[in-house]
Amino acid sequence: MTSRNLLAFPLLLALTPSLAPAQSAPASVFGYTDFAAEWKIEQQFMAVPDAKLAGQHLKTLTAEPHLAATPEDHKTAEYVAEKFRAAGLETEIVPYRVLLNWPKVVRMEAWDAAGKLLISGPTKEHVDGDPGQDDPRVVMPFHGSSGSGDVTGEVVYANYGRLEDFDQLAAQHIDLHGKIVLVRYGANFRGVKVYIAQQRGAAGVLIYSDPQDDGYYKGDPYPLGPWRPETGVQRGSVQYLFKYPGDPETPGVASTPDLPDSARISPEGNQPHIISIPISYHDASPILKALAGPGAPLGWQGALPFRYHLGVVSGTGGVKVHLVSQQDYQRRIIWDVIGKVQGTQYPDDWVIAGNHRDAWVYGAVDPSSGTAAMLESVHGIGALLKTGWRPKRTIVFCSWDAEEEGLIGSTEWVEQHAKALERAVAYFNVDVAVAGPDFSAAAVPSLKQFIRELTRSVPSPLGATVFDQWRNERAEGNEHRASNAPKDDEEAHVGDLGSGSDFTPFLQHVGVPSTDIGSGGPYGVYHSTFDDYAWYVQNADPHFAYLQQMARVFGLEALRMADTDVLPYDYLTYGRAIESYIAAARRKASDTGAGSLDFASAEAAAGRFIAAAQTAHGRQLAATGDLGKLNSTLRQTETALVNEAGLPNRPWYRHTIYAPGEFTGYAAVVIPGVNEAIDAKDATRAGQQLGVLTQALGRAAQTLESIH
Ligand SMILES: [Zn+2]
Repeated sequence: MTSRNLLAFPLLLALTPSLAPAQSAPASVFGYTDFAAEWKIEQQFMAVPDAKLAGQHLKTLTAEPHLAATPEDHKTAEYVAEKFRAAGLETEIVPYRVLLNWPKVVRMEAWDAAGKLLISGPTKEHVDGDPGQDDPRVVMPFHGSSGSGDVTGEVVYANYGRLEDFDQLAAQHIDLHGKIVLVRYGANFRGVKVYIAQQRGAAGVLIYSDPQDDGYYKGDPYPLGPWRPETGVQRGSVQYLFKYPGDPETPGVASTPDLPDSARISPEGNQPHIISIPISYHDASPILKALAGPGAPLGWQGALPFRYHLGVVSGTGGVKVHLVSQQDYQRRIIWDVIGKVQGTQYPDDWVIAGNHRDAWVYGAVDPSSGTAAMLESVHGIGALLKTGWRPKRTIVFCSWDAEEEGLIGSTEWVEQHAKALERAVAYFNVDVAVAGPDFSAAAVPSLKQFIRELTRSVPSPLGATVFDQWRNERAEGNEHRASNAPKDDEEAHVGDLGSGSDFTPFLQHVGVPSTDIGSGGPYGVYHSTFDDYAWYVQNADPHFAYLQQMARVFGLEALRMADTDVLPYDYLTYGRAIESYIAAARRKASDTGAGSLDFASAEAAAGRFIAAAQTAHGRQLAATGDLGKLNSTLRQTETALVNEAGLPNRPWYRHTIYAPGEFTGYAAVVIPGVNEAIDAKDATRAGQQLGVLTQALGRAAQTLESIH
């Protein structure tokens, strides 16, 4: 699962992997008193990650479907553990026992108003020549956390299933009780579509991939090109991860194999009870085509070659769908792989770098490109260890399981190690490492400059550095990026962390400063059986040059953070970001008529935080005195932004600045307590949440002020 990499990029480049990096040493690097010695270590590291070896890892990892908790998944855990051990990491395979559903029966049939059968499916995913599609271990398309049942109802089309889409249906007095809602993928997390549909009374949900969003409208479908073919289906979880991720029965508690069943709760707060089924546009098309009633509103029309309608016809019947879903829910064993290198100076201060390993099917891009890159990062760290080098801080590499079902392996591990993680200095995530040449990153503001600086040290397969290419992406007219990017053209854009991958428990539950990186491109086979090795070498990265690039960036994140003299957190940028979030919330509150809220205290607290950050920045540059104490104070500043009580109605999410939106799921909502209360037009709650924010900013400012 990932949130950021479904972007179009027009180039397909067949490049040979670059060999030794040619960058020259930066004059100075924030956090280092003298970077010269570290530069030599980094250059030794950078020479090791190998494109060809990364390609071999990818081939091995994608040889079989490896859904979480299957024997094939266990084999990939063994493979990763073997590579970790070979590099010299203290390695263990860590099991958890978690609730997962596997599909027994998934069926759908549709009839038009006259009772004529339109489609009986789902149709098997198939294209000419794909080598993996007929393997009996390919799991039938289904939704993780779906309900079971057998329902029949009339169909209503609801566009992307966003809150505003459902509201538009309500404004047209279209009642969804007992209806089957047909929505398309895109715009929000699929679990949100089902969440709102259930709230509005729907009996079931069909989610399909419209060719406008990742099919022929974008370019040639696989096997001719990279886009989604007619029968391609996006599997995925519909868990309510915006409530809490992880094992649905153990929020806040690690579901170790010996955790008694009596310590587990009902999962109903975290998953829908209605059925949802993912389908291809091959199966959705005859249904959509037969829908009558009002024409689809502006923006609701997709790329299928007929006019879309909402499907509600008063008096006469509409299109009827029969859905059957039998889900086998069991507590199953999953396996994280954890590999450590002990730090010499600050062994309790962990630098954590992680990637998930489980896939819906073969998972070449998602997530095996990440795992292949991580294994070559580990290869590079291993080469340093063989020279006698040891990091100052402990480095922990993590291969997470069951991410696809709801960030489960990472969440359980974080819940188990919450106390130790108060000292963890960073979590670096990679998920979809390579779908193409378009580098992107998201991070907490304190690490945005760290990422930019570091990518100046890594060569790009396109020439120059990763940073140069990244910065140029906007100039080259990447529409999506350009519209979201800041206006200055000096800086590469670093996004905010919402959810959709394993950084969520680290940042949003326990307050570990986090980043997420990837290299995107035209990628229309997300969560289908066609996300396989054959697709990857044809479309994404034929010579594995981008796996090598991502191995270098990912490994360098860990290496540079582990050895830094002073933690390179940029709290000035953080403070200014928070200040801008408060200003935006104030404007929104006055626009929506909730204008009597008092923002002054929160603004004053943000101002105090910024002033303290300025002083702290000077101390970080000077790097004198007790650096251990300076570092732990810098680290505690992020923890100060965590509120123990959590967000209203979703206490698992405790960060006061970042959370996945209740109605977006993937996209970040900033100062979520305040903004979601304003959105809900709840002035009392907004005032209370402004108080919580003010307190958190006061704590953070006070922490930083102790540096003087
Ligand atoms: Zn993923």
